[in-house]
Amino acid sequence: MSGGDETPVLIVGGGPVGLALAADLGRRGVECVLVEQGDGTIYHPRANTVNSRTMEFCRRWGIAEEVRQAGTPPDFPLDIIFCTGLTGHLLARIDRPTYGGRKPLPTTPERSQRCNQLFFDPIMRKLAAGFPSVQLRYRCRFESFSETADGVLCQVLDLSNQRRETIKARFLVACCAGRSSVPQSLGVHWEGQPVLSYHINVFLKIEELWTRHDKGKAAFYFFVDESGLGPSLIELDGKELWRLGLSTGQQLLAPESVNVPAIIEKFMGPHIPYELVSVLPWTFRSIVADTWRRGNVFLAGDAVHQHSPSGGFGMNTGLGDAVDLAWKLAAALAGWGGPALLESYEIERKPVARRIVREATEGQAPLADKSTLAPIRAPTPEGDRARAMIGEEIVRERTKVFVSDGLVLGYRYENSPIIIPDGTPAPAESVSQYTPTARPGSRAPHAWLKNGRSTLDLFGDGFVLLAFGGTAVNASPIVAAAHSRGTPVKLVAIDDPAIADAYERRLVLLRPDGHVCWRDDTPPEDPVRLIDRVRGAAR
Ligand SMILES: Cc1cc2nc3c(=O)[nH]c(=O)nc-3n(C[C@H](O)[C@H](O)[C@H](O)COP(=O)(O)OP(=O)(O)OC[C@H]3O[C@@H](n4cnc5c(N)ncnc54)[C@H](O)[C@@H]3O)c2cc1C
Repeated sequence: MSGGDETPVLIVGGGPVGLALAADLGRRGVECVLVEQGDGTIYHPRANTVNSRTMEFCRRWGIAEEVRQAGTPPDFPLDIIFCTGLTGHLLARIDRPTYGGRKPLPTTPERSQRCNQLFFDPIMRKLAAGFPSVQLRYRCRFESFSETADGVLCQVLDLSNQRRETIKARFLVACCAGRSSVPQSLGVHWEGQPVLSYHINVFLKIEELWTRHDKGKAAFYFFVDESGLGPSLIELDGKELWRLGLSTGQQLLAPESVNVPAIIEKFMGPHIPYELVSVLPWTFRSIVADTWRRGNVFLAGDAVHQHSPSGGFGMNTGLGDAVDLAWKLAAALAGWGGPALLESYEIERKPVARRIVREATEGQAPLADKSTLAPIRAPTPEGDRARAMIGEEIVRERTKVFVSDGLVLGYRYENSPIIIPDGTPAPAESVSQYTPTARPGSRAPHAWLKNGRSTLDLFGDGFVLLAFGGTAVNASPIVAAAHSRGTPVKLVAIDDPAIADAYERRLVLLRPDGHVCWRDDTPPEDPVRLIDRVRGAAR
C-alpha cells in the first residue's frame, strides 16, 4: 500500500460488519483500509445476541473464547420473564439454562452468546487491527466516489486535521448502515416498509437490580399493562448494565419528552437508584435494498437490510454478508476468482436477508384486545383469569423468536452461479428447526472429528475437498484441476462412517466460507469445468 492513498479494498464504516470484513480480509492477507467517521467509542448498547453462526465465525477467527468471556457470565440465567412489573404479577416465565449449565449441541460447536456490541465491537476492532494488512482509520469520513475502468476513486475527509484525500481502491464496500453517500450514488431503492414504529432505548446502570424484586435474575423482562406489551428491560452484562426499551408507536418523540423516572417507577418499583447513561432513538424498519452491488462497489450489513431487533438477527446477518464477500474479494484480487464470484454475492445474500427481515417483522401483532387486558393488574379473580390467558398466549406465540436455529444455521444459497446443485430436493424451510444437510448451497454440517476438532474447523481458508471411503475414492483429478487454475484447495480424507453419512457423498467440495458447493460419489468427467464453476469463471 502506498502511504494509504491506494488500497485493494476500501471499507466505509467501522461497525461490526465493516470490522468483520476487514478482519476476514486481513486473515487472508488482503490489504484494506477501513474509514470510520467516529472515534470507535460505543456510546449505546445495540445488538446483544451473537448467534451460533456468528460464534462459528468467531471460532474461525480465534476469538470465540474472548466473546464468551466478555458477555453475560456463564452462570447468569437466560430466562425470559413477562410480568406487569418487577414488583407486580408474573404472567409467564420461560426458563432457559445458563450458558454454563448447557450441554453441547449436536448441530454446532458454538452456542449463541449474549455479548453486547459494547463488548463485541471492541473485540472485532482488536482482531481487525491485529492484521498487518489492515489499516483502521478512525475520525475519517468517506465523502464520495467515482468509478474508473479498474476501480474506484474515493474522497475522504480526515476529521482530525480537516484534510481531504483521494484513495484509489480496486473495490469499495460500504458498511455504513446506509448513512454514507454510497447507497444513494448506486440509486438503491428499498423494498419493504421504511417506518413501522418509533422507539427509544434508555441505557441504565442499576446495581444488583434483582435484589429489589421477587422475579429473580433474567435476561429479558417484558412488561405488560392495560395497553398491551409495554417496555422491555434487557440485561447487558449480568451485573449492572440494562437497556430499557420503549415504543412510542407512530409518534416520533424527542428523547427528552419521555418521562424515564415515571416509567422506572411504574414497571420496576419506587426508589430504584439508577444512573442514566445514554438514550438512543431508533426506527423499526422492515427493508431490504434492491441493489447490493454495482461494478466494484458493494454494500453490506445495515446498508442493505434493516428490521426489528426481535430475534437478534441484524448484526449477525451483516456478519454473514461480510464472510460471504471477503473470500470472493480476496479471490478476485488473487486472480483465481472469476466474474461470477462477485456476482454471486447479491444472488446469495439477498434472499437470506429477505427471509430474515420477513421473519423478524412477523409476530408484532398486539398481545390481546383491550377488554382482556383491562384487568391485567387487578388483584381479583377476573385479573387472575386475564393473566392466565395472556400468559398462555405469550408462551404459545411470543417465544418462537428465541428459537431460530432453522434461520441461523439452515440458511442456504439457492440459484447461485457458483453452486452446483446435485438434484436433491431442498429441505423444508423452518425458522426453529435446523436439519443438518450437505446439499450444495448449505452450511456444511458440524461433526466432531477423532482429534476433538469440529469439521467446521477444517474450513475457512481455501477450498476443502472432503473424501470419504479411503482408497476407493479418487479425489486427485479435482485437486489437480484446482491447481491448474491456481485455486487453493486442500484434500482431507475422513475415515468416520457417521460423518460420511452426514455428508452423504464420497466427495464433497467446500468453499472458503464453509458452504458446500459440489458433491458426488465420483469426480466429474470434466474436473476443470467444476473448478471453473465454483471459482466463478464459467457458467
Ligand atoms: C435497539 C437495537 C437492538 C439490536 N439488537 C440486535 C441483536 O440482538 N442482534 C443483532 O444481530 N442485531 C441487533 N441490532 C442490529 C445491529 O445493531 C445492527 O444490525 C448492526 O450494528 C449493523 O452493523 P453495521 O456495521 O452494518 O452498521 P453500524 O453498526 O450502524 O455501523 C455503521 C458505521 O458506519 C459509520 N459511517 C456511516 N457513514 C460513514 C461515512 N460517510 N464515513 C465513515 N464512516 C461512516 C458509522 O459511524 C458507523 O460506525 C439491534 C439494533 C438496535 C437499534
